[in-house]
Amino acid sequence: MKIERAAFGPFSTNCYLITDDATKSCVVIDAPPGSGAPVLAALERRGLRAESLLLTHGHWDHMSDAHLFQKAGAKVYAHKDDRFIIEQVDLVAPKYKAMVPGLPDSAFTPCKVDVWLEDGDAVSAIGFTFEVRHVPGHCPGSLLFHCVSEKIAFVGDAIFAGSVGRTDLPGGDWNTLLKSIREKIYTLPADTALLPGHGDETSVGEEIESNPYARPA
Ligand SMILES: [Zn+2]
Ligand SMILES: [Zn+2]
Repeated sequence: MKIERAAFGPFSTNCYLITDDATKSCVVIDAPPGSGAPVLAALERRGLRAESLLLTHGHWDHMSDAHLFQKAGAKVYAHKDDRFIIEQVDLVAPKYKAMVPGLPDSAFTPCKVDVWLEDGDAVSAIGFTFEVRHVPGHCPGSLLFHCVSEKIAFVGDAIFAGSVGRTDLPGGDWNTLLKSIREKIYTLPADTALLPGHGDETSVGEEIESNPYARPA
């Protein structure tokens, strides 16, 4: 499995590409603002096709360009608890426009999700299986995608290297987040790499050892 990461948009949101040169297909994790055009162009240059787009949650900085990947043929996956903010993204637009002056209306294009995921589901794509865990607290529909065979998990904004996701946004809740981290993230094998929605990679073991916000129970 080959994983590439690039950050886009006003909040430096990570977009991950998992590519498989044998089948010339790839899985995209999250679609930050400004990611669609350059990522799709790079894929085309390399003869790769975006097969699936897995959304870790529905916050605008993670779903803004989902419609572009979908138009290019990617099947979009997300959790139904974030349906509202993904399909009616214009409702959150004023908040983001206040935070980031100059954002155009075109940055707020909704996306109709193809597949709604739940805790315990599995997604098979480009020859890999991703185990789905629901990790609410930062956002109601937060998901993590755990590829057991590769010992990696894409965790969105639930946890970061030495930090955790904010819980002051609509639908956020600190006790729910702490429970998600303890029961759904700290229970992954300690040598599992955690690839977050912002910033650098970490691991389950490192965070259990030293995360100052989410101590193990
Ligand atoms: Zn978020
Ligand atoms: Zn984010």
